[in-house]
Amino acid sequence: MTERLYYRDATLLDFQANVMEHVGDAQHVVLDRTAFYPTSGGQLHDIGGLGAARVVDVIDAADRIIHVTSAPVPLGPVRGAVDAVRRRDHMQQHSAQHLLSALAADHLKWETVSVHFGAEHSTIEFATASISDRQLTELERWANDVVAEARAVTVSFEDAAAADQAGLRKTSGRTGEIRVVTITDIDRSACGGTHVSRTSEIGSVLLLGVESVRGNSRVGFLAGERVLTRARASDSTLTALARELGCAVGDLETLVPARQLESKVTREQVVKLEQEVAVSRVRALYQATAPGTDGVRRIAHRGQEESAALLRAMVQATVPLERALLVVIGRSPPAIYVATSNDSGIDAGARLKPALATVGGRGGGSPRVAQGTAASGEALDQVAAQVLDA
Ligand SMILES: [Zn+2]
Repeated sequence: MTERLYYRDATLLDFQANVMEHVGDAQHVVLDRTAFYPTSGGQLHDIGGLGAARVVDVIDAADRIIHVTSAPVPLGPVRGAVDAVRRRDHMQQHSAQHLLSALAADHLKWETVSVHFGAEHSTIEFATASISDRQLTELERWANDVVAEARAVTVSFEDAAAADQAGLRKTSGRTGEIRVVTITDIDRSACGGTHVSRTSEIGSVLLLGVESVRGNSRVGFLAGERVLTRARASDSTLTALARELGCAVGDLETLVPARQLESKVTREQVVKLEQEVAVSRVRALYQATAPGTDGVRRIAHRGQEESAALLRAMVQATVPLERALLVVIGRSPPAIYVATSNDSGIDAGARLKPALATVGGRGGGSPRVAQGTAASGEALDQVAAQVLDA
């Protein structure tokens, strides 16, 4: 049986103990007493050192706690040291969760359905179909007010039935002794986790947003150092964006939508201009090309930097012409476009498909417009020659 030192004192991180037994091998270590918190109740395990070995996992096995270590730890006396940074982080997240659950239940009538503590952020699922921005801001405000009040957070061991009678957030449903965590005048919950001893140690609480799950609402949150880390990261992202756009951070919210609108209008103008360019370019090429013996003008055009949209617009502009066949080769992406006028008597798709097949290319289309690709520019040149010749 392992005595759980963290039950009575969550600030005790350095301790002496005895290795009582190994489970399977000497890297699965059972102590007579431990300050290491095992993964349980949604809270992740501690890490740290046991003698010269590192503790990489801590498993709750009923009356024993198994420490999974990076190296064998022999039977006998050993010193344990819990990683303080990770423990404090877990205490802050866990205590913030008690606080948020209590405030949401008392002020908003949202019961907590489930909680999840993550390495990046944590979540609480509340039994409410929706949460407004105002409610989220209020809940965050209340939580930070209680943090500032530095209320005592205490641990007591009580008889389950008596504790239920005296009022618990949720009836424990157990018999015998239970561990009760109390935030003065705010909450009494049965819990085996590690908590801060004053709400001020939570640091601060930041709510991240709401997600709908199974008709409930899941709220993400950060507490303590994580809030600072997030603030620092957000600030550096915003500063970088503002520098990129040449404005102050405070102007981003109005500048970015304005720029997006501008670029949408510009894109629309480009599309219009490309259509105009396509029409006049096809007309010029048409005028400069002499008709063949069959009266059809066979126009070849090799694209340079033009967009695929412009080349396709040239294809469309060919259809209403008189007795015309247009073959265009585009560079990026490599493609061949074929268009024929309504009165040409030439089927663009039927002309292109077999020509592509001779070079292993793919494509096809309708009697008026067709499109295809091949492995190389040379292959496309060969296809173009075949389409124009036939
Ligand atoms: Zn707890």
